[in-house]
Amino acid sequence: MSVIVQKFGGSSVADVERIRKVAARVAARRAEGHQMVVVVSAMGDTTDELLTLAKRMSSDPPRRELDMLLTCGERISMALLSMALHEQGVPAISFTGSQSGIITDDAHSQARIVEVRPVRIREELGKGRVVIVAGYQGVSRNREVTTLGRGGSDTTAVALAAALGAEACEIYSDVDGVFSADPRVVPEARKLETLDYGTMQELAAAGARVLNAQAVEFARNAGIVIEARSTHAGGTGSRIGPDPAPVRAVATDTEIRVLELADAQLESVLRRLAGDEVRLRLVAGSRGAMGRLLLVVPLQDVHGVEAFDASVRALGAEPRPGLGTVTLAGPGVGTDSALLAGCLGAAAALGIEVRAVHGSPLQLTFVVDVGRVGELARELHRATR
Ligand code: ASP
Ligand code: MG
Repeated sequence: MSVIVQKFGGSSVADVERIRKVAARVAARRAEGHQMVVVVSAMGDTTDELLTLAKRMSSDPPRRELDMLLTCGERISMALLSMALHEQGVPAISFTGSQSGIITDDAHSQARIVEVRPVRIREELGKGRVVIVAGYQGVSRNREVTTLGRGGSDTTAVALAAALGAEACEIYSDVDGVFSADPRVVPEARKLETLDYGTMQELAAAGARVLNAQAVEFARNAGIVIEARSTHAGGTGSRIGPDPAPVRAVATDTEIRVLELADAQLESVLRRLAGDEVRLRLVAGSRGAMGRLLLVVPLQDVHGVEAFDASVRALGAEPRPGLGTVTLAGPGVGTDSALLAGCLGAAAALGIEVRAVHGSPLQLTFVVDVGRVGELARELHRATR
């Protein structure tokens, strides 16, 4: 019998009524004759609320304890969805990440999955039960509970689909797939029918919240095709797979910290970032005696902005608040000199100062004032159709 992995995001399980609807959807798919594994995120804004609670307790909470707290969110959803299925007469059982055999490294708050041993999941599927799995979490070899980084339930779903040899990996959210830009920023954004892994990875890394970047990387390595769909009926969703698709899409990110520094400070600042497990989003600028460099890091990795700013300042770097990024992604985007000229011209015509440019074959990223991010995104989306 074929296994289907479905993942439901926070807004799809935000209240009791919506959880009932998800249960009905799962039951219908099961009735078609599939073994069902269902990964859930925390209800609504639960994860953000738990984070706020932690920050009220401590400006720099220990990451281990943060993970203990944040994993509670998904446990609530998994138990409630299992109850909803029981109510509808469908046998179901819920498991935490640890019970599901999701083994990670020990990088609390952004752990990577190193192995999946879904022994208990297989047993329960064999008994005809729907297995509900708490997304976004795992357990390290030292038996510590870990989380996979924001949006990490997608990663759980893809990793399980790979480990179980699933026929499909369906990621449900409140939008009908991946769009050419965030429709809240760019109203003309269009739904993309298909995207290749590379472009999707760039968009996810550049701030598109629709899919988690590590999940896409996992899917690419395991050859899993992701179907991103809307929880609400209708819509054809988007398919993320290996086939090249000639798309151009825009992503914006305002949740970043930019550091400006001189060459002489680069190595010590990078070592500090590495020690604090802060990842690099991008590096731009030139080295040498006159060179100034910009390092962009995700705010998500910074636990306590003031302490972070003070620590990098002590090393000679200057935090530059108030900046954001606009990224244009797609095959060939970063190698097209006319396209880059056009983007810079468009920014100049709007009077937007581009503080740094970063390109690679699949993307072009512009660092600009945070207040101009939306405007530049709309213009680049329009100009590159
Ligand atoms: N609940 C977690 C978050 O909000 C994980 C997820 O939604 O995938 O980031
Ligand atoms: Mg969530």
